[in-house]
Amino acid sequence: MDFRISEKMETILAMVNEFVDNELIPLEGEMLHGSSEALAEAVADKQRKVREMGLWAPNHPEEFGGIGLSLLEHGLLTEALGKTPLGFTVFGTQAPDAGNIEILHKFGTDEQKERWMRPLVEGEIRSCFSMTEPGMPGSNPVMMDTVARKDGDDYVINGQKWFTSSADGAAFAIVMAVTDPDAPPYRRASMIIVPTDTPGFEVVRNISVMGHSGSGHASHAEVMYQSVRVPQSNLLGDEGGGFVIAQERLGPGRIHHCMRWLGIAQRAFEMMCDRANERPIAEDGSTLADRQIIQHYVAECHAEIMGARLMTLRSAWLIDQLGAPAVRDDIAAIKFTVANVMLKVVDRAIQVHGALGVTDDTILSYWYRHERAARIYDGADEVHKTSLGRRLLRARKG
Ligand SMILES: Cc1cc2nc3c(=O)[nH]c(=O)nc-3n(C[C@H](O)[C@H](O)[C@H](O)COP(=O)(O)OP(=O)(O)OC[C@H]3O[C@@H](n4cnc5c(N)ncnc54)[C@H](O)[C@@H]3O)c2cc1C
Repeated sequence: MDFRISEKMETILAMVNEFVDNELIPLEGEMLHGSSEALAEAVADKQRKVREMGLWAPNHPEEFGGIGLSLLEHGLLTEALGKTPLGFTVFGTQAPDAGNIEILHKFGTDEQKERWMRPLVEGEIRSCFSMTEPGMPGSNPVMMDTVARKDGDDYVINGQKWFTSSADGAAFAIVMAVTDPDAPPYRRASMIIVPTDTPGFEVVRNISVMGHSGSGHASHAEVMYQSVRVPQSNLLGDEGGGFVIAQERLGPGRIHHCMRWLGIAQRAFEMMCDRANERPIAEDGSTLADRQIIQHYVAECHAEIMGARLMTLRSAWLIDQLGAPAVRDDIAAIKFTVANVMLKVVDRAIQVHGALGVTDDTILSYWYRHERAARIYDGADEVHKTSLGRRLLRARKG
């Protein structure tokens, strides 16, 4: 098996790594301690530079300004950008816009693409994805209360959603709502585009998560839909096709998440090694790096990152060859494996930093707060393990 990457990707990754190291990581102090206005200005400046480098929105379709990367190549780029929380916004590839762009590209009408997708790719507007409800299990989304009833040429949407990430300041939401309660479970719901200035669409609050409510892109909103009226032409794909589109969004989306987590894990690993090498621990001049237990931490983390990375890149390659549905076992396996590896590495890096690790003087505590959710969203660990285990046992039975 040949693990080399193309010359084109070598060049792109070298440019991105240099930019992340020299331009973005130094901005993290502003992100953690500075004013949001100063950060927004600095981010806009870096975005301008990324556009000048020809690397804006690199994951998007070529006809919409992207650079036509395969999923595997995009995964490698995602890993490089994941080393800092600022990477995705500065390169125009942040969630949930990236996933919305994918489904608008695949299922949108020409009009929807022009009206919503093009300005999204350009970075002129932001969007959100509104599926999970406080009163229903997100792990079993066929149980959904939000309804879209037909009235003349319109849909009238009623329901309550939460964890609609980045709804604060978004121009539109893609909402999942039941359009036919009598259909078979996986044909009941549809995806509908809702401009956020439509009467009845209300961001009730940015939910406080781990002590922070956030704002703008970095927030998770509770949203009410109260008799929200939109034209039926805002339907994305076909009626009843919501779950098919959701699956389409989640397959490659899990590669993006896993590669981003591997970027985090790798940077936390490097920080752990640097701290261990520098931190004196005894009067004889020895450092933490001289202690066997720390050497074991380092060796274990390295091996686990390497294993998780190989699994993920192989899954991305398989999706490129066969499509996501054929690779669902691999996708389930990487989702829970990589999330847990990343969280373990971040935890170990905090441990090795001692008290410094839990302060906000390094990026580690930010990740500890923000990335715990990795084991919950896009399918909780238990859901992936149960479905994968069940399929493997059935396959063995024949
Ligand atoms: C930071 C963050 C961002 C998010 N962003 C979005 C977004 O932008 N848009 C959106 O629509 N949603 C979003 N979500 C919601 C996310 O998709 C749901 O939280 C997820 O689907 C789980 O649903 P739930 O929270 O209702 O948990 P539940 O379904 O109530 O499950 C709770 C727990 O029960 C266990 N469990 C569930 N099912 C099983 C099972 N079959 N067997 C055994 N154990 C099980 C798991 O441990 C699970 O964590 C986000 C969530 C977070 C935390």
